[in-house]
Amino acid sequence: MTKPIVHIVHHVDTEGPMREPLDELFERIENTLGHALKLEPTKENLLKLQSLEFVFINNEINQLLKKLIDPKLLSFKNNWDEVDEMLNRILIPSYRNKFKDSFGKGWIYNWHLLDHVGFETNPRYRILGYGAIFNLYNDKLKNLKIEEDSLQWHFHPIPFNKAAHTSAISYMNSAHELQQVMCRRLIDSNWFPVVNRAGFHTVRPDSNWWLEQWLPFDASNQAMNNDNTGFNDNINGRFGDWRGAPDDWSLYNPDYNDWRKKGNMNRTIARCLNMNTRFRNIDGKELQKAFNLANSSGKDVYVGITNHDFREMSIEMVSFYEVLKQVASENKTVDYSFSDTITAFRKCIGFSNEEISKYKINFDIELRNNTLNVSINNGDLFGPQPFIGILTKDGRYLTDNFNFGEIGNKQFYYTFDFLTVPIQNVKTIAVASNDKYGNSCIKRIDV
Ligand SMILES: [Zn+2]
Repeated sequence: MTKPIVHIVHHVDTEGPMREPLDELFERIENTLGHALKLEPTKENLLKLQSLEFVFINNEINQLLKKLIDPKLLSFKNNWDEVDEMLNRILIPSYRNKFKDSFGKGWIYNWHLLDHVGFETNPRYRILGYGAIFNLYNDKLKNLKIEEDSLQWHFHPIPFNKAAHTSAISYMNSAHELQQVMCRRLIDSNWFPVVNRAGFHTVRPDSNWWLEQWLPFDASNQAMNNDNTGFNDNINGRFGDWRGAPDDWSLYNPDYNDWRKKGNMNRTIARCLNMNTRFRNIDGKELQKAFNLANSSGKDVYVGITNHDFREMSIEMVSFYEVLKQVASENKTVDYSFSDTITAFRKCIGFSNEEISKYKINFDIELRNNTLNVSINNGDLFGPQPFIGILTKDGRYLTDNFNFGEIGNKQFYYTFDFLTVPIQNVKTIAVASNDKYGNSCIKRIDV
């Protein structure tokens, strides 16, 4: 009899290098704790803080401070060379195979690639620009001939102060940049996302509804018992609010009005916990819950784990693997596998290989005079309409809604004229969609 499998899915929020100058760090500590440090932002003062047991009278705040200034959490990759050095070490087969799953396979990464766009200031020296980090990773994986890893979606909404390091939560406030990232990746790289990792772990109604149009899978749930983190920057579920969502590693479909509740939306949400951050971390107890669920249900279970490429990932992987091996050795009736996210979602939802290929989404696109006609000829779209990307001859990237055909005839239309873009001004048209199985179809016309 085959055993159920716990799928270990490593989601990397892939944001490139960052630096944190000391004055920025001290300011972040004060904002996060909601208390002034009353110290000059110097290296000596940081070392002093790290060596002290107590800084504040309140012990709870001391504990939070200790987590914030843990040297492991402050060791950032400062530039692309440092990230690249890490990648050259951790991407190669001999490194991946130091970690073995129940089937003798090595580690797999899922890279959720971020474009830092729409920002005006950049105090943490992040790599800015459309496709900048995406292309670095795409080239890297191609050069190293890596095929087992998955490239997926991550987006940071743009804050009012337009600073590249400030967290924000509104997709609608960032609609232009959001559509630009989608359009440019589709047209320039022939790429369309399947799996979301929410920026700042945060979903709100606008992102809940936007994702529902395009992406069938979402590994963003960070529900935890007693999720009272105490940090001033996180009160009232301000970021990563998953209170009330399933915390037993089961998958769920979200509700229209509240992404945390089980509901009738089509997207499937998986749970994904942090590796060695200041809160919501994966540990042996959480892993045991996953093995319990696999054991009691007899079905595969999705365990998402996440970290960033701006820290030394190997340290977090090694310490996670130690715990995993221990828990797995105590649960011999369950196997575990390092999995890419799409495979893991398919297995845990229970789609058969036969239906995944039989109903694989396929459509044709055809330009008749100035009207684009999209005909679905196999399977179904995941959402209500395909995504269209248009590149004009003067270099603009555009997207729009389709015109829908008669109900049920699986046709979509787009007219190029003076109300949209005259067809003689169009250079490239690309159309993409996923289906509910996580298959993708992309078609393009160079006019
Ligand atoms: Zn992020």
